[in-house]
Order: sequence, then C-alpha cells, then structure tokens
Amino acid sequence: MPNSLLTLSALELLSLLKKRELSALDVCENYISQVEKIRPLNAFVTETPDVARKNAEDADKRYKSGSSLPLDGLPFAHKDLFATEGILTTSSSKILSNFIPPYESTVSQKLKDSGVVLMGKTNMDEFAMGSSTITSHYGPSLNPWVSPSSPTTALVPGGSSGGSTAAVAAFAAIASTGTDTGGSIRQPASYCGLVGIKPTYGRSSRYGIVAFASSLDQAGVHARSVKDAALFLQYMAGHDPKDSTSAKVDVPSYLEAITGDIKGKRIGIPKEYRPEGLSPDISRLWDKGIALLQERGALIEEISLPHTDLALPVYYILAPAEASSNLARYDGVRFGVRVEHPGDTLNDLYEHTRGSGFGAEVKRRIFLGTYVLSSGFYDAYFLKAQKVRFLIAEDFKKVFQNGIDFILTPTTPSGAFSVENPPQDPIEMYLNDVFTVPSSLAGLPAISVPAGLSEKGLPLGLQLIAPAFQESGLLNIAYALEHAVQFKGLTPETIFLPQA
Ligand code: GLN
Repeated sequence: MPNSLLTLSALELLSLLKKRELSALDVCENYISQVEKIRPLNAFVTETPDVARKNAEDADKRYKSGSSLPLDGLPFAHKDLFATEGILTTSSSKILSNFIPPYESTVSQKLKDSGVVLMGKTNMDEFAMGSSTITSHYGPSLNPWVSPSSPTTALVPGGSSGGSTAAVAAFAAIASTGTDTGGSIRQPASYCGLVGIKPTYGRSSRYGIVAFASSLDQAGVHARSVKDAALFLQYMAGHDPKDSTSAKVDVPSYLEAITGDIKGKRIGIPKEYRPEGLSPDISRLWDKGIALLQERGALIEEISLPHTDLALPVYYILAPAEASSNLARYDGVRFGVRVEHPGDTLNDLYEHTRGSGFGAEVKRRIFLGTYVLSSGFYDAYFLKAQKVRFLIAEDFKKVFQNGIDFILTPTTPSGAFSVENPPQDPIEMYLNDVFTVPSSLAGLPAISVPAGLSEKGLPLGLQLIAPAFQESGLLNIAYALEHAVQFKGLTPETIFLPQA
C-alpha cells in the first residue's frame, strides 16, 4: 500500500470508501502499520488493532449492503480519558493503570455508532494536568516535528492531549478526540501543526470522561484540516440526558456552514494579549493572521478584555479546587490500583494508595485545591476566583454584544520545547496556557489553526474565539484562515522518529 493513502483527508477517504475504490480494511491495515512504525513516539497507551480490524470489517459490510454510517471506516484515536467499554482507560495514571471500564463514554459511543475505526487510546498528561504529556505515568509522547536546526532534539507534542496530536500528526489516526480544560486541545494542536477545536462548554457530553475540573472540561477534536475537524465534531456534539451540563441546543451542519466567505466579519484583536515581552515570532505570526483575514474582507478592530491578566491565577485556583474534589474517589476502595501493603487502618489504605498512585503534578494540584477550599482560605481564594471568573466571562460578552464576531489571538506563547529540558518551574509551565485559559473560563468555543513556523522551524497556531454555540461560524473563519495560510504539514516521510 502506498504511503499516500495515509495523507488523504477524512472527506477524501470517505468518498473513496463510498465508491468502493478502497476497502475500510485496507485503510485500517495501512494505519495499523503506521501505529506500529511510530511506536518510538509513544503516542498510544493502548493500541487496539483487533478492535480496529473488527470495526473496519463491519464498515465494509455496511458499504457493501448500501447501509453505511456517516464516518464508516475512518481510523480514529481516543485520548485515554474517555471510558471505552472493555478497553483499558488509564488517564495516564498509575492509579487507573488496571481500569477497564464496564461502560462507554457518550462521545466515544456516538463516534462508534457513526462508524469510526478505533486505532487505540492515546497518551496524555496524568489526569489531563499539564502542557507536555511529560506527567504521564507511561512516559512522555514525542512530537513528530523537530527543528531543522536541531534535528535530533526530541520535542514535546504539548499537552495534555499530546498523544492524540502526535498520533494524528504522524498519520497513525486521521483524527482524534482531546479534552480541553484550559487549553489541552488547542496547545498540543498548535505544537503539532494541527487543527484543534474546543467547542462551547456544554456542546458535547462529559459523560464517561474522567473528570478533571467539571465546570471547564470539554471534549473536542484534532484533525489535519478544518473540514475534517468539522466532520468529526458533527457526530460528537449534542445534548446527552446523562450529562446535566450538556446543552439542549441543536447541532447545525458544520460542513455546510464552511464557505470561506468572511466578508464584513468584525474581528477583535485584544490588546491585553500583546504583553511586553511577547516573542517576536508570535507577534509576527499574529500580524500575518490579521493581514490575511483583512485581505479576505474581514474588518479588524482593537478590543479590550481588561481582566485577561487575572485568568491564569483564577484558573489555577478553580481547576485544582475542582480536581481535588473529583480525584477524591481514587482511594483504592472502588477504583484502580490498591497498594499491596495497605497498612492497618482505612486511613493508611487511602494514604498509601494515593501516595503511590498519583504523580507529582497531580499531588500538587490536589494540595493546591484542598488549600483554596479549606475553611480558612475559601473566601479569600475560591470565592474570589469565582467572582473574577464571572468578570472574565463578562469581558467577552461585552465585546460580542458590541458586534465583534470573532476574536483572533495567538494560541501559545512559544513553540514546542525539548522533552529533556522542559521548563522546571511549574509556574513557567503554567504560562503555556496564558492565551487559552480565558476562553475556557468563559466557556466559549475556540479553535487553533496552524498558521506558520517559528524561527526554529516549528509549527505555531493562531486561535479564533467565538460567542457560545457559534461553532459553525468559528469553523468557517478558521477555514478561511487555513486557506489563506496554506500551511504545509508533515508527510509520512518527514516525521521524526528517534533512533532506538
Ligand atoms: N495545561 C493546563 C493544565 O495543566 C490545561 C489542561 C487541560 O486543558 N486539560 O491545567
């Protein structure tokens, strides 16, 4: 089989599958070989070739009988945070390293019911806490991109959905799920030269997704193009009676909304996102994006989101607070791994299980969260942060009420960094989220589109943000930007694989 099959888009594959010029099983075998080939990138926690073959055979039968499903035969991967019935689901944590869920998350069920072929479960930062996949119990994933000036230096794919983006960028899946609490779809998409969309909070169901911070977590998708992302989002989104925070809002046809026409659209450029010291690479990229949208008839306006500088501290109070509560269930009693020598008392059991089951970053978040929720500090931190979150959401609301259609910003303050030499200071790591966290706190849909290369030759994304539930318009403007940029991604021949 030619490698070129791997470079087909999901829409192209679907059309060939429909015409029966390709069989789903052929596609699947090709992708299975690629999954094996890219093992040095450590993108998967669990490969599922047998499931994939079965899915593909079923898809072929349906194509044959003329009863195909909308995504029949498309090779897909799930972040290892989505519960998959009968398939190991670890959250990349030692504490869940033996967890085989007896049920399926709604999002993965919907995709299954639409015909996707499951290639495997992808690596991630433990419990989705991080920006690098380095905090995974299974070791970091690697980015298939390297800098031409330093071709042997392995880089992070970003995080927390880094295995998902490494897999798609390295052609081991055509698209993948991610989850985004403060940037975990958009940041790794930016680092790996992919499109990554986080829909509106409530747009897709959280049922069966291992919870990190429930008021922020949202499932989305990574793909190699905007249209492919739109295609998969279509079948993930929608109200779910099993998730009381999922919204009863109709899901329009995303692909139909993509025309590329953005004439007269008003694009806000928030001045607070251009702090002193913003890297010249990022500044240039942003200016290029502004110019390209303007050339296509969009109207560019400076806007102000005055509480932007408070978003990161607010996020790092609220997300750990919710995490400390969500992670209380991992106690060695009902879920996951229990230590061999649990001690004498129930408290000993909790202590030993949690002490050995969680990694350092997860423990840091639990400490932080427990502290800000403790009776002495609740008002000073947690309550205050809730109030400021409201102000941050109001900033966006005002801007959109004043007629701005979309907001354009950088996705990340830099490109991918070295796996061996990541930022050592947790605060420096947290700064990765500076551009993605505000829209998360406001619950708004946002997308990262690959927009160019850094001086080191690494991919960088631009972020577009829309009002709630305006994913259609967001995908359309993202498409216009993608079209204008003509970003050149990797090919199966140019992906980086470290020497063993
Ligand atoms: N990097 C952020 C964090 O560590 C965001 C994580 C996410 O979106 N899941 O919290």
